Amino acid sequence: MSVPHINLTCNKCGEGWSPAQLNKHRVYLDSDVEVPVYSTLGWCETCAALRPVEHFEDSPRTQQELEGIDAELAQLTNTWIKRLFMRTFNSHQGHREWLEERRKSLIQRLVIIEKRRGDEACLVCGSRRLQSFTGDYSLETDGTFSYVGSKPSGFIHPGCDGEFIATGSDIRFHFARITYCYSPEGELIEERWP
Ligand SMILES: [Zn+2]
Ligand SMILES: [Zn+2]
Repeated sequence: MSVPHINLTCNKCGEGWSPAQLNKHRVYLDSDVEVPVYSTLGWCETCAALRPVEHFEDSPRTQQELEGIDAELAQLTNTWIKRLFMRTFNSHQGHREWLEERRKSLIQRLVIIEKRRGDEACLVCGSRRLQSFTGDYSLETDGTFSYVGSKPSGFIHPGCDGEFIATGSDIRFHFARITYCYSPEGELIEERWP
């Protein structure tokens, strides 16, 4: 995967991080179900760095997607009964399995949100000693989807008092397709290489 790139660099000490860390592929492994991990940028006091941290604000969106899947599954069942006699239902089987997998993982996601909201962990070290990233690092994009320009993010580097400046870069990251697997408690348990 190739993603355009923003750097956040402290204007006092020069430390820099990239929010592109948020784009890595992460899942919870919860009794054999792969549940999506959503992350946002935060300050981890244990890493003393900007880090991807767990984000649990998607209940309404997840609920809505679940309702959509239930509706689609109900419709497929109707179609399935009708087509059973015409022996063409096999073509729907793959899609139905995908919907059922997705449904399981969304239900688990809602359970994790319910249990863990307010207990967000750093996705690098598992620490709960976090501060919200209250800055804004959004930048304009040019015609080739690279970020252009630079602006103060408004977020002060904790313990340093410099400010993080967001700068666009035309260097693109190429992530290896590694899947980072977490326990439902937010601890990194393994990295899966393709
Ligand atoms: Zn600094
Ligand atoms: Zn950390």
